[in-house]
Amino acid sequence: FFITFEGGEGAGKSTQISRLATKLRNREFDVLLTREPGGSPGAEAVRHVLLSGAAEPFGPQMEAILFAAARSDHVEQVIRPAVTRGAIVLCDRFLDSSRVYQGVTGNLDPDFMRNLERVAINGMMPDLTLILDLDPAEGLRRATARRGEDVADRYEKETLAIHQRRREAYLTIAEREPERCVVIDAEASPADVEDAIAAAAFAALEK
Ligand code: C5P
Repeated sequence: FFITFEGGEGAGKSTQISRLATKLRNREFDVLLTREPGGSPGAEAVRHVLLSGAAEPFGPQMEAILFAAARSDHVEQVIRPAVTRGAIVLCDRFLDSSRVYQGVTGNLDPDFMRNLERVAINGMMPDLTLILDLDPAEGLRRATARRGEDVADRYEKETLAIHQRRREAYLTIAEREPERCVVIDAEASPADVEDAIAAAAFAALEK
């Protein structure tokens, strides 16, 4: 079973994904917790390049191809083997991050993005995608409080309008793929978010 977590900056994805992992492990599930960009040695090396100054000369197309290359390695080296052995894989960001960050706010051609996605995931569609939805102004406040003013992450220095477009793009994906996607109100308290996520995950697992 394959569950992905998505959402903008500061939505609480990493906190919530580890809480769900704990909850599932307490019930004796075999859980693999992973993240993107990264998750396999090859993909972590690409992550390092993408999130560092070295990526500055890259155009959006090159960036999207590198994200896809990393995803392909992550899928084949880590995710597919774990799903095949019967584990529950929890992944912090996956294909929807590319649709939103590279596709929508990178203004890349939808056909190009669809082709890239198909190659990268090679059939490994998430069974459930939890979209942590939050007002970007609040998300940025949280992210800044966590990392300090000197946010190393270049993505967190972008304008609020861009983060707003990403939020809308995530909600559009959820509308188009209601079978796969569940929108979680991430403005709620961490305990309430945790409960909503557990309810969605257990409902999907029982299906
Ligand atoms: O999950 P986290 O927020 O730590 O992700 C690291 C960074 O990579 C984020 O700032 C996100 O904006 C960026 N990213 C991206 N495209 C993806 C995945 C992540 O731009 N496909």
